[in-house]
Amino acid sequence: MRCERASTSRPTLSAYFAAHALLPGGWARDVLIETNAGGDIERLAEGAKADGAVRLWGPVLPGMPNVHSHAFQRALAGTAESGDPARHDTFWTWRDRMYRLVLTLEPPDIEAVATWVYLEMLKSGYTAVGEFHYLFHTPDGSRYDSPTETADRVIAAAERSGIGLTLLPALYTYSGFGQQAPSSPQRRFAMDVEEFCALWDALDARIGRNPQCTLGVAPHSLRAVSPQSLASVVTHVSRRRPEVPVHIHVAEQQAEVDACVAWCGARPVAWLLEHAPVSERWCLVHATHLDASERTRAALTGAVAGLCPTTEANLGDGIFPAQQWLAGQGRIGIGSDSQVTIDPAEELRWLEYGQRLFLQQRAVLCTAETPSVGGTLYRVALAGGAQALGRSIGRIERGFRADLVVLDGENSAFRDVTGDGLLDRYIFGGVREPVRDVMVGGRWVVANRRANGEHAAKSRYLRAVAHLRERA
Ligand SMILES: [Zn+2]
Repeated sequence: MRCERASTSRPTLSAYFAAHALLPGGWARDVLIETNAGGDIERLAEGAKADGAVRLWGPVLPGMPNVHSHAFQRALAGTAESGDPARHDTFWTWRDRMYRLVLTLEPPDIEAVATWVYLEMLKSGYTAVGEFHYLFHTPDGSRYDSPTETADRVIAAAERSGIGLTLLPALYTYSGFGQQAPSSPQRRFAMDVEEFCALWDALDARIGRNPQCTLGVAPHSLRAVSPQSLASVVTHVSRRRPEVPVHIHVAEQQAEVDACVAWCGARPVAWLLEHAPVSERWCLVHATHLDASERTRAALTGAVAGLCPTTEANLGDGIFPAQQWLAGQGRIGIGSDSQVTIDPAEELRWLEYGQRLFLQQRAVLCTAETPSVGGTLYRVALAGGAQALGRSIGRIERGFRADLVVLDGENSAFRDVTGDGLLDRYIFGGVREPVRDVMVGGRWVVANRRANGEHAAKSRYLRAVAHLRERA
């Protein structure tokens, strides 16, 4: 067997042979996958012969979309884990620490950290990311010469790493419900609707029609926008691009729910369903605190719940009602959010474990049709993730991006097991380094666990983090 080496070149037509591959209709044997020069899957055949195709080293999965990322927060991961028993440490005290980091980041740091984080994502099996970006201005709130300065850094990081990008510029105008003025650190991201729409238009022109990168929009949260600004921005971008993904943080913290009720008499998701055109284009990030009515109605819109179980655990958010959400036909995607973990298998494992701990049951997130928990979780996160990121990804199928994850077929965990048993082992089997090779848009970006440009990217990341610590 041989595996094509990582290369930046893209041949006009390439053929790959997988002994096992997860296709939309289920697991298939002896699959021939042909990719075209544009990075899409051109042809697919089951029960095929390898002939001259490149044999892949193990079971092949569609790459996992990461629906929610703040790349810069990687520099904070693991540094905010000491507390004081006399003090009530919460999401809000963590946010103060995060804001201190916000004030130290210069554009080259943003690019260096994001590039490294995206390589880490690729190595773990994420092949696309939704970057929820709000660091637009200088630390004192003054404007860079180019309004797209920091967004350009994120785009450059995605291009350098090779990951697919859905850039989600965030509208952040206020510090709390009722249009409270932004706090000092929040000046770095605060904008009014007019300035935001001009920025969005500039990014739209910058990105254009790019198969590897698309533009969405992210009203940050109901805390950070007004009813008028939310409506104005969604209307503006929808006129330009009717299918644009819309992401919003909502109901992550109980304190946020309480503040929303105090402001308008309604819970956040209930308010949103009443006042915004929530649909399949929307991703409700976290949506942790839902009452039964919100849960039922939000699921029926077709919106994706953007779940980030390891961050939600780290920040003490609460437990999303995943069992009831899925039973009500709700859709989910997963995200690495604060980057305390960069591993889709761990996010999916903790999504299930949260339900087990809460319900005191086992094997919660599965169905009669798909009794495998791993099989259920991987499929629903693929479908919801692709929907939330607004790109043709998440399926090994003709016309979709050639985003492939090759598990390590030589790992003992994957020997003598087939079908969804592979996904159960991958997610719940405690497998070290399960991902061997990763292709994005027809191009190998990870080969034998090494990402393209990994050494240089790591050096730049470490230098950036050292500078951030000096400035903190
Ligand atoms: Zn977030």
